[in-house]
Amino acid sequence: MAVRLCSNVSELLEIVKQQRDRNRTIGFVPTMGFLHKGHQSLIEASRNHGNFTVVSVFVNPNQFGPNEDFETYPRDSERDFELCGAAGGDLVWFPDVNDIYQEGSETAVVPGALSECLCGASRPRFLPGVLTVVLKFFNIVCPDLAYFGEKDFQQFVVIRRMAADFFMDIKVVGCPTVREPDGFAMSSRNVRLKPDQRDLALTLYRIIMKARDMFGKGERDAAALKESLTALWPSEIDLDYLDFRNPVSLQQVSVLAPDTRIFLGAWLDGVRLIDNGPLVG
Ligand code: AMP
Repeated sequence: MAVRLCSNVSELLEIVKQQRDRNRTIGFVPTMGFLHKGHQSLIEASRNHGNFTVVSVFVNPNQFGPNEDFETYPRDSERDFELCGAAGGDLVWFPDVNDIYQEGSETAVVPGALSECLCGASRPRFLPGVLTVVLKFFNIVCPDLAYFGEKDFQQFVVIRRMAADFFMDIKVVGCPTVREPDGFAMSSRNVRLKPDQRDLALTLYRIIMKARDMFGKGERDAAALKESLTALWPSEIDLDYLDFRNPVSLQQVSVLAPDTRIFLGAWLDGVRLIDNGPLVG
């Protein structure tokens, strides 16, 4: 069936209820739009699980800091609708900001220790804003499964934690990072990179590959590996973090293991770049 469009909460509730009455499970893919193959992989995962798949497209103002890129975040709702349909989505929901943050609404989710490091440390509004909007969306859509990309690994982990902490009957599914052929992690923000910055932006992936290479050759000392990798970092990119962390606790490790993840965050001319991956994977 062709993908449908809605922006009204009561219409969304009605469509989802009809599908539940037909015994369909509901899969949910929240996005900020300007869709690419990474988003499409989440939609495809939901479709392949047999769900009726709801995709939200909402640039959430409350997860951006005052000097961040809310205004300039790329947007193209017509293209999003088409790409969502092409990936097998059933319903694209463009929430109205006034429905999500009704007059008088004031309650927000307070994240815990998992949000204190990485992007949580450098972008203090980001994870509280994400958790609050995702909780609102979960309560509206009531999905059986919700799909998130490992590209934003910390976001995935804190949302999975929130679902468990609040006894939500929702399976939070993590999906692998989709990359360009040269390894560059896809992101809506990449469109803001100038052609001559593209190669520099690939630094994050190169560093992940170098970390894997050195781990493969026997390096187990996190501090030593961090020092070697930091020495390779080009001065044109502002490094925010380069850390080795446990994939569940997100605590820093001193002895590297195959499932240790390297996490990278940076800014290139104001464009936020993040990437991560396991040392063996
Ligand atoms: P965003 O629109 O950037 O907020 O992302 C919406 C969802 O798509 C999040 O769960 C992201 O982790 C996921 N996502 C974004 N980029 C990728 C990618 N390259 N590969 C896989 N998932 C992604």
